[in-house]
Amino acid sequence: MPKRKIEIMCPKCLWRPKPQSMWQCRPDCGHLWNTFDTGGICPACGCAWKQTKCPACHQWSPHGDWYKETLGDERVENRQADATVPATVRPRRG
Ligand SMILES: [Zn+2]
Ligand SMILES: [Zn+2]
Repeated sequence: MPKRKIEIMCPKCLWRPKPQSMWQCRPDCGHLWNTFDTGGICPACGCAWKQTKCPACHQWSPHGDWYKETLGDERVENRQADATVPATVRPRRG
């Protein structure tokens, strides 16, 4: 089985959040936290954020779209069939 790896990146601009990246909850809550530590749920008020705004491109994307599953050591094998060599057909006369 190939190793599976989850990478978090913005679906729009492929920006990757850092561990110290912070998101802010609603103004009445105001809590700052890394939304990817909790799956988009504010630890202060329990509000579940279904959309996450990218600090790089300022676009909202569904939280689940930020998780990209990649196969760690995936190799693209470009297997080619053995090339067929055209045979020289000599018409026989006889
Ligand atoms: Zn909150
Ligand atoms: Zn972005």
